[in-house]
Amino acid sequence: MKTKAFQDTALSCLGMGNMRLPVGEDGKIDYAKAGEIIDYVYRHGVNYFDTAWPYHSGESETFLGDIMPKYPRESYHLATKYVSFAGPDYKGIFEAQLKKLKTDYIDFYLIHAVFDNNADDYINSGCIEYFKEQKRLGRIRHFGFSSHASVATLEKFIKANDEWDFAQIQLNYMDWTLQDAKGQYEMLTQHRIPVMVMEPVRGGRLAKLTPETEAELKAVHPDWSIPSWAFRWLMRLPNVQVILSGMTTLEQAVNNVETFTNGEALSDADAELLLQVCEKYQKQISVPCTACRYCCDGCPEGIDIPAMMEIYNSLKVSGIWGIKEQILSHEKNAANCIGCGACATHCPQSIQIPDVMSELAAIVG
Ligand code: SF4
Ligand code: SF4
Repeated sequence: MKTKAFQDTALSCLGMGNMRLPVGEDGKIDYAKAGEIIDYVYRHGVNYFDTAWPYHSGESETFLGDIMPKYPRESYHLATKYVSFAGPDYKGIFEAQLKKLKTDYIDFYLIHAVFDNNADDYINSGCIEYFKEQKRLGRIRHFGFSSHASVATLEKFIKANDEWDFAQIQLNYMDWTLQDAKGQYEMLTQHRIPVMVMEPVRGGRLAKLTPETEAELKAVHPDWSIPSWAFRWLMRLPNVQVILSGMTTLEQAVNNVETFTNGEALSDADAELLLQVCEKYQKQISVPCTACRYCCDGCPEGIDIPAMMEIYNSLKVSGIWGIKEQILSHEKNAANCIGCGACATHCPQSIQIPDVMSELAAIVG
């Protein structure tokens, strides 16, 4: 397992994310299967285990508290987080987390999920000062935050504390430009804050591409798995500290360990190819709507068709999160579509609009 120095210790470059653990039919964590994954990655050198208060509806921390004490406490690092929607009682939540994790200190503690619309709430809540105090008391070893915020908010949040040890951001080759992960990475690097990576394969979207784009990558490196391209791309970034992977199966764990044991960072040529393939992949999974609105006048239901196309593309590229709300924010939406097909005959891009509407309508239910 590759490791990288961090302050006075060394962290494995692969971190175990505990938000997508295997579950049983009842939706609860399958302790046997999840324990097998933890044991495999631990025995192969992973020493960073990331969880958070809300993961698996609170069960993830409990699971780690049950499973990790069989290993020597100094041989691994626990990371967990305080999230504001859990309630304003950050002191009580922190104490509860120590109990759930069955430990008297957290190695890496984070303010969780900073967004543009909650950064000020965190800053004004007093929680930063409180967690800094816990660090002085030795109950937190390293203090950081995770962010989905814009670069401007990220900078403001960085300046809210003069001693951030690390930060966690969503970083992968697709978001490098799509969500300005490049700008976020550079901002953190400029402030000398090491980066923990979340969503390195974009919630699985970069683990499986289209047959054509996968073939382009396989033609160059037939033995590499598709997800490993994403990890190898991240290995090129010197300020990346730990790359978290939310592993659900033992097979994923085996593949990831292999990549982080024997895999090297992409060459310049491979990195360039990957970004070209990514561009092609995004086009292939999206509809090429130009928002010309030629389709709109003929729609008997008055649906804002280009708005629905935009939501559809967001679904394909970014996943289901928030999609239902986006659809329903339009009074006339895909659910109102009667499938008459009047729109499709006017579309210069030959988009099968009724099919797209039907897929979106199924999400609304
Ligand atoms: S198929 Fe649906 S979106 Fe297209 S014109 Fe008919 S009702 Fe409108
Ligand atoms: S006609 Fe086609 S390209 Fe133009 S807005 Fe409608 S769906 Fe988009």
